[in-house]
Amino acid sequence: MWRGAARRVLRGGGGGSPRAVSAAAAAQLRRRLESELEDIRGAGTWKSERVIASRQGPHVHLAGGGAGILNFCANNYLGLSSHPEVIRAAVEALEKFGTGLSSVRFICGTQSIHKDLEEKITRFHHREDAILYASCFDANAGIFETLLTSEDAVLSDELNHASIVDGIRLCKANKYRYKHVDMQDLEAKLQDAQKYRLRLVATDGAFSMDGDIAPLREICQLAQKYDALVFIDDCHGTGFLGPNGRGTDELLGVMDKVTIVNSTLGKALGGAAGGYTTGPKPLIDLLRQRSRPYLFSNSLPPPVVGCASKALDLLMESNAIAQSMAAKTQRFRSKMTAAGFTISGKDHPICPVMLGDARLAAVMAEDMLKRGIYVIGFSYPVVPKGRARIRVQISAVHSNEDIDRCVEAFTEVGRKRGALP
Ligand code: PLP
Repeated sequence: MWRGAARRVLRGGGGGSPRAVSAAAAAQLRRRLESELEDIRGAGTWKSERVIASRQGPHVHLAGGGAGILNFCANNYLGLSSHPEVIRAAVEALEKFGTGLSSVRFICGTQSIHKDLEEKITRFHHREDAILYASCFDANAGIFETLLTSEDAVLSDELNHASIVDGIRLCKANKYRYKHVDMQDLEAKLQDAQKYRLRLVATDGAFSMDGDIAPLREICQLAQKYDALVFIDDCHGTGFLGPNGRGTDELLGVMDKVTIVNSTLGKALGGAAGGYTTGPKPLIDLLRQRSRPYLFSNSLPPPVVGCASKALDLLMESNAIAQSMAAKTQRFRSKMTAAGFTISGKDHPICPVMLGDARLAAVMAEDMLKRGIYVIGFSYPVVPKGRARIRVQISAVHSNEDIDRCVEAFTEVGRKRGALP
């Protein structure tokens, strides 16, 4: 379309007519975008997308060849994305409730399955109520603006997920950014924030780039001391951390001290899409009245609701799947450490293999794919300079043989590329 408009100008359609002006603007925009894209390529930070031609799972087919690739880079922690019962529940919901509502929740977009899922999420997290969103990104975009005003303060870990950062940007509260999991810094900032009406500490439960877990016990103690509330985004904890998979707050014994939990249905809980907030009933009621991503966006499609609902049923029946994932995580972490690699974090299925050098991370990830193992290298600006890594994510549906194959390939590639002696 832009090319067409530019051509019309070249053919003499110019002369200051509105069309010529917009064609010139379009051409200028095109040049600017191309130069920006070139800068991204030049900086070596271009993200290309591999195309998967099969279901998500421990073994995937890549488009254009590459069958039976071992996949270690999905957030499919419990392997529920392709679980037969989860798929069946999605199909049943599709048949009974249709493809979607063509509406937001408060007009005519609420079905019985939405209410049932909200009730299940509430029970799962032992909270008072829950509200669904199209994504956790939306849940994070909606919460801070609804809850906080310029009379309040929000204190956020510097490594919080982009969606928390954006959600906080949208609100008018006084903003503090404390150093990553640094309790001294958080305390200093809580002291400064005493002048405000309400203080909210916001943190990821588990941090997705490092596989480390927020010190929630200490955060809750500080919150108690300085009369603050605690919010967690538990996208990388819900479904598998803690004795019953309730999340980071259960793992650290502070379920009764964390006031608000936001999480996703798009990772461990079936992997389709969707997010939610769970917490005190009046907060959830207020979100339904005021939260913009909830009020002005379509309700979750029935098949998505069906599969998340079934995933929660499975997890509330038994924690065997989560335990199996924990055992495999342990196997990978201990074998890789014995092989001489440094794995960041502790006990979490996000296992970042720390390499330091960005090029090394990129070439090793390529070498791994040549050996049939799909992992991704992360470098600056996604992680700090000099802290490049390959992030491996373990799933309950990896077999012990899959884990061992991955460790063997890492060892071979690491030796070849000089990452191991
Ligand atoms: N919060 C964290 C910590 C995440 O890792 C993600 C997804 O990458 C999100 C929020 C967004 O979740 P969703 O995919 O449901 O929007």
